[in-house]
Amino acid sequence: MFYRIPEINYIYVSKLDEALEVLHTLDNARVLAGGTDLVMDLKIGRIRPETIVDISRVDELKYIKDEGDYLRIGALTTLQDIVESSLVRAKAPVLVKAVNEMASWQVRNVATIGGNLCNASPAADSAPPLMVLEARLILASREGEREVPITQFFKGPRKTELRKDELLKEIIIPYERGSGQHYIKLGRRDAFTLSIVSVAALVKVSNGKFSDVRIALNSVAPTPVRAYDAENALKGREVNLENIENVSKLVLNSISPQ
Ligand SMILES: Cc1cc2nc3c(=O)[nH]c(=O)nc-3n(C[C@H](O)[C@H](O)[C@H](O)COP(=O)(O)OP(=O)(O)OC[C@H]3O[C@@H](n4cnc5c(N)ncnc54)[C@H](O)[C@@H]3O)c2cc1C
Repeated sequence: MFYRIPEINYIYVSKLDEALEVLHTLDNARVLAGGTDLVMDLKIGRIRPETIVDISRVDELKYIKDEGDYLRIGALTTLQDIVESSLVRAKAPVLVKAVNEMASWQVRNVATIGGNLCNASPAADSAPPLMVLEARLILASREGEREVPITQFFKGPRKTELRKDELLKEIIIPYERGSGQHYIKLGRRDAFTLSIVSVAALVKVSNGKFSDVRIALNSVAPTPVRAYDAENALKGREVNLENIENVSKLVLNSISPQ
């Protein structure tokens, strides 16, 4: 059921400092990045903030930077900028694979990576790849910044570690040299659909054995999850289909409901 968006205060900011100052003074505010989740939530009445703080033009949060051992991505970087980035493709290919399967070109041109994470949908497609890459999130408030591992960011459906005066500012993605990375999304259709389940995997192999294994899934629990039992069981084992198939059952230990 769709409703008209009720009257709401609207504050437009063009600088990060301004945004943080405004958030510090308000009790019931939501930031608007691309608006592709937020506007729908307002229309169906899922959220009723008193104020919208429009950060969509805070250009200082739109960047992809290469720091050698890691990438830094500003929270307001659009999904399409990530898909088209040769840097991200080279250093975090699993993220490009996942984002490439999100929504449509038109939506990806306005939707942001920060919005996908902060919306905290269990089906968020950027979460599993960032979890296997062990990304870290920089949360900013007027008081300063703090760094949170992405595995500790999601607290439940639509719930995150963010305090009401905080913004997601940046995503730090370590460069996992010598790793194989993949993302598989199962939806109701082949394209333009939300996940029924998606899996991101990152593995390293040495002398024919798994030396590192990371597996993350979405849509199978209240938050995106890492499948630690399956990961640990595969580490040190020979790389063959039998081992993978045997261990795959352990993924059930990490999902809920099973
Ligand atoms: C047609 C359509 C198809 C879609 N397909 C997919 C899909 O395949 N996979 C998928 O995962 N999603 C999909 N989505 C959902 C959506 O597009 C993404 O989640 C998108 O990345 C949200 O980003 P945004 O910038 O539009 O966020 P917004 O809608 O602006 O914000 C979302 C939430 O995050 C908060 N927020 C945003 N940025 C910040 C920040 N920097 N700091 C703190 N809080 C912040 C907002 O307050 C709000 O609560 C789809 C949406 C539509 C409309």
